[in-house]
Amino acid sequence: MQHEITAHDLTFVPFIDKEKIAARVAELGKQITKDYQGERPLIIGVLNGAFVFVSDLVRACEVECEVEFVRLKSYSGTSSTGEIRTIFGMNVPVEGRHVIVVEDIVDSGRTLDYFLKDVQAKNPASVRLASMLLKPEALKFPIKVDYLGFEVPNKFVVGYGLDYDGLCRNLPAIYQLKKE
Ligand code: 5GP
Ligand code: MG
Repeated sequence: MQHEITAHDLTFVPFIDKEKIAARVAELGKQITKDYQGERPLIIGVLNGAFVFVSDLVRACEVECEVEFVRLKSYSGTSSTGEIRTIFGMNVPVEGRHVIVVEDIVDSGRTLDYFLKDVQAKNPASVRLASMLLKPEALKFPIKVDYLGFEVPNKFVVGYGLDYDGLCRNLPAIYQLKKE
């Protein structure tokens, strides 16, 4: 049984339980296994948020693969032109590889718009995107998620890798900000 949780000054209510997440991740793993038969995809997780999803997803994929991580930081000020900074980037060659970028959540899509262009410029054989969550109402960039966990409303969520000011990443389920 899940309960409300509190982190810093905010309260969150259960939203997607861990059984539902596990079932969806297993389906995505099966799909990737089918789609990449005979290939050796390069899976690139976007830190920090995607670390939990990546670790579950790769274990659900029964295909030879390599796993790498990048770390990006987004500054979304008051204008719609937020800046993305690469804290640490890819240190393996991407050219000719079948790449699967893995994110925790696609919100405006700004982070991935930036990063996918960066990957494309390195001449991979193919690029697909996996994301645990997508907020369709918040999307401002033309991002297509090939392997999606769940569509969610435009509300702040935490858990399963997603944080609120550094906390909550270790929660096994996904929680939504409680309406007061
Ligand atoms: P985007 O660049 O798509 O606007 O934002 C992507 C990043 O913003 C995500 O990788 C995530 O770190 C953060 N983000 C967006 N929405 C949420 C949310 O509801 N909860 C949390 N914890 N982070 C979010
Ligand atoms: Mg992220």
